[in-house]
Amino acid sequence: MRRRTIATVADEQARDAAFEVARTRARTCTRCPALVASRSGVVVGADAAPADVLLVSGAPGADEDALGLPLVGQAGQLVDRLLGEAGFPRVGVFVTPLVKCLAPGNRDPSPPEVAHCSEHLVAEVELVRPLVVVALGGFVTKVLRGDVASIRARRGREEPRTLGTVTFWLLPAFHPAAALYAPALVEQLRADLARLPELVARGRPEASPSAPRAPVTESGQLGLF
Ligand code: SF4
Repeated sequence: MRRRTIATVADEQARDAAFEVARTRARTCTRCPALVASRSGVVVGADAAPADVLLVSGAPGADEDALGLPLVGQAGQLVDRLLGEAGFPRVGVFVTPLVKCLAPGNRDPSPPEVAHCSEHLVAEVELVRPLVVVALGGFVTKVLRGDVASIRARRGREEPRTLGTVTFWLLPAFHPAAALYAPALVEQLRADLARLPELVARGRPEASPSAPRAPVTESGQLGLF
């Protein structure tokens, strides 16, 4: 077992304190009036941190909103099972929504809402410092890649991306909620998550000036295309 030195304990305490600050900032955020009116609460990231793998789901659905947790219900159970098969139990993975509040009628968040909420996602990425970020579903993939290529064209095709100061492998995959209704998609999601050990073993990709970044605008927010 790794020995915890005074320095590592101090580092962990500082990181925990920074997480608490970031969570409090998100939980008290009121930047999107329509979402503030429709949400029960703000759904922030959960499970392990720091972590080699970070899963980004879309916006919270009704179940996530009610429980205050990301990726729950049948879709969450499917991901838990497939992560376990891949050797990455959910307790060792950080899971967070792209946008932290339930949208009215469960619609997709608007571009301004995505941009506003990117501050919270970037803060989480900076604290978790993942080697691999899995973009679950077409909406998250389009936002984090900054183009309109379909999830069918991009799934399973990793590429280096940078958010904030962190460069990672971005791995697009089908959203588990879509896979619940299409057994073929379950197999593709299983195949993509099974690649996590290999991608983590590669280590952090090089952050070069020519490497693509997630599409952050001049104001530091994620843009939508
Ligand atoms: S969606 Fe994000 S930016 Fe908008 S109010 Fe919720 S926490 Fe704030």
